[in-house]
Amino acid sequence: MLRMNPPALDDAALLARLVAFDSVSGRSNVALCDFVANYLTRCGASVEQVRGTGQDRMNLVARAGPPASAASRAGLVLCGHSDVVPADEPEWESDPFALREAGERLIGRGACDMKGFVALAINRVARAASAGAPRRHPLCLLLCCDEEVGSLGARVLAGDAARIAALPRHVLIGEPTGGRVIRMHKGHLKLALHLTGRAAHSGLPHLGVGAIDGAADVLFALRRAAARLAEVRTDTSSFFPECPYPALNVGLIRGGAAVNIVPADCRIDVGIRLLPGQAAPMALDAVREELAELPAAWRTRVRVEVINDNPPMLCPAEAAIHQVLTRIIGQSESLGVSFASDAGVLSEAGMSCVLWGPGEMDRAHRPNEFITRGELTAAGTVLDRLISEFCA
Ligand SMILES: [Zn+2]
Repeated sequence: MLRMNPPALDDAALLARLVAFDSVSGRSNVALCDFVANYLTRCGASVEQVRGTGQDRMNLVARAGPPASAASRAGLVLCGHSDVVPADEPEWESDPFALREAGERLIGRGACDMKGFVALAINRVARAASAGAPRRHPLCLLLCCDEEVGSLGARVLAGDAARIAALPRHVLIGEPTGGRVIRMHKGHLKLALHLTGRAAHSGLPHLGVGAIDGAADVLFALRRAAARLAEVRTDTSSFFPECPYPALNVGLIRGGAAVNIVPADCRIDVGIRLLPGQAAPMALDAVREELAELPAAWRTRVRVEVINDNPPMLCPAEAAIHQVLTRIIGQSESLGVSFASDAGVLSEAGMSCVLWGPGEMDRAHRPNEFITRGELTAAGTVLDRLISEFCA
């Protein structure tokens, strides 16, 4: 069988190359995707770049081994996101987009969340493709854009049923979980409440309707909705002991034009962290019912817009990906986390997802984000075992 080029870089060197692409959410990731596509193609993988959230924000799908059988959908998908959160914090001690080594630490934006895992995944697909050894089932890489702003890239991909059906069903998403297997996470339902008033000179306030004034009543309604949701318990609550209910956060408020103008509009952004097994209508009803209690003058001046519904993830304990991975690492319990990921939309599209990856989430989204060489090496060993279980 034809042997292709082996991967050109070791995992840490590949991580350095990935960190060097400024792939902050919302910016172009074309250069990064082109680099990954060239790297994998040289090794013999089949690579497709597909439109993600815009012409310059792509999703990438790569495969080593045979196409997935439509019947069994056996094989394994290693899934990561190509975007990173901004790196504007003044506390950065070096260029966030130049990987710096300090002792065991590899420091840079995305080192932990989640270009470290992505580097491991790319090299494993590259190695599988270049070895040319007959493999029973495919090993795939899924690289999604704009995860950090609500799994927008994964949602586009999940909407392409034919493409999803051509992938193995079993998916490992390499979010930094400290090497723990996570089979549940909360969702994130984002709402915008738009209040419409009427502008007027602030010296003649009787001619206007102050939208910020109305927002005060809306905030009290939201506080009541949050209190109602805080009473809710479900089958999965016990997996989230710190916050066993769907938490409602009023995160952002914007309104008005100037201090001498009665404000014509105000917008309140709300995020609700739904528990696994819950869906948006339950939370929307709680919000709408409390808004229905507003003073009559405001009831018709508030509009609720769903900005993004990033669903929770709930993978059954007996799912193959959960069973095999927990066995490999020797984990006996089922675990959940309170952050959302691409697993929500991919699960809705019929894929069987768990989270597991090197590094701790509390280092992510912070200045001087890092992963250690030891974490990368240990994760690589686990990945190799997982791949041989699903693909060999
Ligand atoms: Zn992430």
